Amino acid sequence: MEFAIKYIYSFGTMALLAVAFGISLQFDRSEKASRVGLGLLFGGAATLAMNNPIPIADGVIVDPRNLFVGLSAAFLGVWGGAPALLVAISTRFYLGGAGVGAGILSMTIASCAGYAWSYMVRDRVHYHPGYLLLLGGMISFSLIGILLLPRDAMIQVFVAASPFIVAFNLIGAMLFGGLMERERNIAFRYGRMQNEAVTDPLTGLLNRRGFTRIIDHLPEKIKNKAGAVLVVDLDRFKTINDTYGHDTGDSVLVSVATQLKSCVRKSDVVARFGGEEFVILLPETSEEEARQIAERLRETVCAIRVTLDSDALPVTTSIGGHWNGNGINLLTALRLADRALYRAKQEGRNRTEFAFDPAMADYSNVA
Ligand code: GH3
Ligand code: MG
Ligand code: MG
Repeated sequence: MEFAIKYIYSFGTMALLAVAFGISLQFDRSEKASRVGLGLLFGGAATLAMNNPIPIADGVIVDPRNLFVGLSAAFLGVWGGAPALLVAISTRFYLGGAGVGAGILSMTIASCAGYAWSYMVRDRVHYHPGYLLLLGGMISFSLIGILLLPRDAMIQVFVAASPFIVAFNLIGAMLFGGLMERERNIAFRYGRMQNEAVTDPLTGLLNRRGFTRIIDHLPEKIKNKAGAVLVVDLDRFKTINDTYGHDTGDSVLVSVATQLKSCVRKSDVVARFGGEEFVILLPETSEEEARQIAERLRETVCAIRVTLDSDALPVTTSIGGHWNGNGINLLTALRLADRALYRAKQEGRNRTEFAFDPAMADYSNVA
């Protein structure tokens, strides 16, 4: 009975830790730091458990600490598992007694069992309850640690406590693992939805929303430096669709996206704004460079083949660009680049036109 009550108390702590785990998943920027923080919390929970133990013999105590140590390794990896183990080992060392060696060995085994389990299930998005039972079973290997106990105490723990320890490890892993998995699934789905909201499904490029968001989050010192925006619109794309079919049109769009992306620097931002129109931001770029990049992009698109036939329709693009030496104002830049694009179309397509004429950069002139 005492066993049951003390283990059930620790389940309450676990539920709180699962909530903390869920909250930490929202801070994906400092993942390692939040894992270390959570690991310390798990270690703290193990310490609490050791302060409310079931005494077996002089200096020998039984408590659910191995569950905390094993679960931290299983769900937080080394960054969380190691701090948890360190805290728990320090506590056990501090409490002293004949069981110190056995306690430390058993916690180390529990921790290794957690890592081994997480390695075994690494590719799974969803855990079958059987996997969680397996985790409880693996953590129970920590009982091997009792081999370091004095003979009488070892027999006592084995006979009186081991069935409870195994049973509660199984239940704890199921309940707690289920909670953690739920939190992880929610965070995973949320992340995927956020990603989908800013991605163009056909080409994998950013969509308009993603592009705008990146610009909004550009550091001021980059935003205020000279930069350019290019609007890339494929020429007579309707004819390509009409001639070869929509699916071929789609694969041309994918090729164009790949080429545009591979042609610019990592710091440049490429997006598909819709249809056969792409927009590229070139931060920290001189007028000269912006022109060269635009020309290079145009030539690269020209090299794309719709089919292997020598008389296949060419894929060409017109590009309108706007460069501003004082920084990037997206709305204005897009408007001016669009004007330049219109000019490129009017003047025969398959060309680049720029609207960085200072007169045009006078925003009050822009409709
Ligand atoms: P222009 O040189 O003046 O830009 O001519 P255009 O035919 O490219 O321009 P228009 O705006 O008249 O037509 C764009 C075409 O792009 C029409 C549409 O069929 C095609 N399109 C838009 N989105 C997609 C898409 O996702 N897949 C495919 N295959 N075609 C698309
Ligand atoms: Mg077009
Ligand atoms: Mg268009």
